[in-house]
Amino acid sequence: MQELIMIKYGELTTKKANRKIFINILTKNVEKILENENVIITKDKVRMFIKCDNAKKIAIKLQKVFGILSIVIAYKVNNNLEDVLNKALEIMDKTKQTFKVVTKRADKNYPIHSMEYSKKLGGLILKNSNFKVDVHKPDIILTVEIRTEGTFVYTDEIKGAGGYPVGVGGKGLLMLSGGIDSPVAGYLALKRGVNVECLYFESPPHTSLEAKNKVIKLTDIINKYSGKIKLHVVPFTEIQEAIFKNCPDTYMITIMRRMMYRIAEIYAGKIGAKILINGESIGQVASQTLDSMYCINNVTNMPVIRPVACFDKLEIIDIAKKINTYETSILPYEDCCTIFVPKHPVIKPELNKCIAYENNFDYQNLIEKAINNIETITNFKEDEFEDIL
Ligand code: ATP
Ligand code: MG
Repeated sequence: MQELIMIKYGELTTKKANRKIFINILTKNVEKILENENVIITKDKVRMFIKCDNAKKIAIKLQKVFGILSIVIAYKVNNNLEDVLNKALEIMDKTKQTFKVVTKRADKNYPIHSMEYSKKLGGLILKNSNFKVDVHKPDIILTVEIRTEGTFVYTDEIKGAGGYPVGVGGKGLLMLSGGIDSPVAGYLALKRGVNVECLYFESPPHTSLEAKNKVIKLTDIINKYSGKIKLHVVPFTEIQEAIFKNCPDTYMITIMRRMMYRIAEIYAGKIGAKILINGESIGQVASQTLDSMYCINNVTNMPVIRPVACFDKLEIIDIAKKINTYETSILPYEDCCTIFVPKHPVIKPELNKCIAYENNFDYQNLIEKAINNIETITNFKEDEFEDIL
């Protein structure tokens, strides 16, 4: 294996006591995302090393692993100056002008000291190219790491995804619709290290198979950041029809969302999730005014995390485009929220009215039945990883 990727850890460096746990989870996540690749992974307190033969492809996959600050692709050559020089000239970007050499002597038995080595190699580069030296603000920093098994040479650092390794934060249940906001909310929760599973409410035949496939596709896209996401699909038709039959138009959405929260809370308990996550954003629609949120949230005692609560729609769209969910989210398939939408949903719902209307039908039974019939989808295909960052 002639190529080496070096990973610098992200924000986890600040968490001294938990450092070991963080690094172990990060290692597991890296192993998972590279399970189909021929690699050797080793690590120390500050870095992870991946020996491989296709570093570019591996680096693209690693760009989606949270907890990584940066990724460096290094090339291995023999420990002689001529080979190092040739590799340096090959990888230094010719569109740039100035450089400096930084030498790290991991092999303390190597006879030339770091400073002296940098000077020597710098001199040879000057002689053999048009590059100029600039030690203060170089365009290129050429790093040379001398190790016993060979010398590793690299120039660029690729930015990693940042955040915490997925899993350090425990598990959360994401209410995932086919819209723009909830996939972004899921991505942001994953970035904080939360191990996300998804819950989708479908109402066939009022919602189509295309709508469900869209949610599967969205799960597949955010699964690239995790590798272990499950999608749980709740049959919601009977509950929606019961609400439609038994509650006034204006309260239909409020009550529907209270039912969603109830189901989500019970199901979160079953899968060991400690928080609910959703894509609600303050003021976006009638069900997301503060009064609505108050009434809807009232059915659960679980923490509800709303990562995009204070974002403008345009800010959410920017992230959706960056993480590649946008194009799928805007496909025009109806959601269960959109099919029973009343003309004038209540903007300031009252809690006592919600409770009174809900007493018009036996929702406990319907909820139990829906939960018993949840379908779980896990086998997402491994698409090509696109270089998106
Ligand atoms: P999104 O908010 O994802 O863009 P949306 O705008 O259609 O979709 P809203 O009506 O704003 O959805 O609902 C707010 C939040 O409620 C969603 O972000 C999502 O977390 C949750 N939600 C709505 N519909 C569903 C559904 N069918 N299944 C699961 N969660 C849902
Ligand atoms: Mg929304």
